[in-house]
Amino acid sequence: MQIPLSRPDVMEWEIERVVEVLRSPDLALGPALGRFEEAFAAYLGRRRAVAVNSGTSGLFLSLLALGIGPGDEVITTPFTFIASATSIMMTGARPVFVDIDPVSLNLDPKGIEAAVTGRTKAVLPVEIFGNPAGLDRVCKAAERHGLTVVEDSCEALGSTLYSQKAGTFGAMSVFGFYPNKQITTGEGGMVVTDRDDLADCCLSLRNQGRRTQGGWLAHERLGYNFRLSDINCALGLAQLSRIEEIKSKRRQVAAWYRELLAGEGRLIVPDDGEGCETSWFVFVVRLTEPYGRLQRDRILQEMSQQGIGVSNYFPPVHLQPFIVQQYGHTAGDFPVAESVSGRTIALPFYNRLTEEEVALVCGVLRAVLDAVPCPG
Ligand SMILES: *Cc1c(COP(=O)(O)O)cnc(C)c1O
Repeated sequence: MQIPLSRPDVMEWEIERVVEVLRSPDLALGPALGRFEEAFAAYLGRRRAVAVNSGTSGLFLSLLALGIGPGDEVITTPFTFIASATSIMMTGARPVFVDIDPVSLNLDPKGIEAAVTGRTKAVLPVEIFGNPAGLDRVCKAAERHGLTVVEDSCEALGSTLYSQKAGTFGAMSVFGFYPNKQITTGEGGMVVTDRDDLADCCLSLRNQGRRTQGGWLAHERLGYNFRLSDINCALGLAQLSRIEEIKSKRRQVAAWYRELLAGEGRLIVPDDGEGCETSWFVFVVRLTEPYGRLQRDRILQEMSQQGIGVSNYFPPVHLQPFIVQQYGHTAGDFPVAESVSGRTIALPFYNRLTEEEVALVCGVLRAVLDAVPCPG
């Protein structure tokens, strides 16, 4: 790709921090782990942070710590990365989808009430593409029904809603550090919470069910090895120290896209959601109707043939074949999510993208739009 969809931003001094760990005897469960967790909790203003080996592990452990399992239901969005739903399924609980708001593209708070049953235990909202719009209303609806909120903040590190940071809305909130996220540890994730009992439970679950106090070979529950090595943590700590710089770079890239695509009637161009200052995970434009999936897929193909990294973030989760097989969803179940997801184009987006590169992407996009006829 001439301009990739995503590209990590790792500085030479950050590499040096990783190398320092490699030269030390503490490659795992060492000082970098505790430092990364402390700095992360402090950044968000939360009591506790527990590092894990992926965002998916973090979501799964959060649900387990809350006692969610077979027979339970968790309300979530069908317009997200698959892990939001599969982390629920891993516990044995059922993901119950609620359609999205057509503007924020997040779980529509108005749909929650009708989805609640006697088995509902939690709501798992996502700040899709980094945008927390509407999350306050999702939390209020959850509270009205006595449901715990597990916040999937994997795309939203640095975003705020009415000045409140993403990752501070849920009883438990989870971040991911895959290389395309705002900060990366290669692979990694973080669970944050203000409740010591939940954090301690996650500590045990990530570390083979070990007790906080007690021997290396004493196991009090079925646990996992979801630990994050000190090698990863050193990188995470370094990256986290740059979060404000990273956020402003991403906001600048988004502003260039918005400027250059302003007035393009064939596209819906995203902005900061209502009340939000978004740190932007990805920059996803949508074709306006009556364009549909056929034209969108042709545009994706044309753009990648011209060296521009693009993607169809995200296909509807409820229509993934294994989910259909398990729960019997059909096309039409969540019409907003389905319609939106057939028209999305994720454009190249990363910290170091230059204004010239953004202009090049926008030029190619307009030329491809000219070449793909609008239906009807
Ligand atoms: C990235 C992401 C995750 C976690 O992904 P991992 O690869 O497991 O770190 C979970 N949910 C959403 C919405 C994500 O974008």
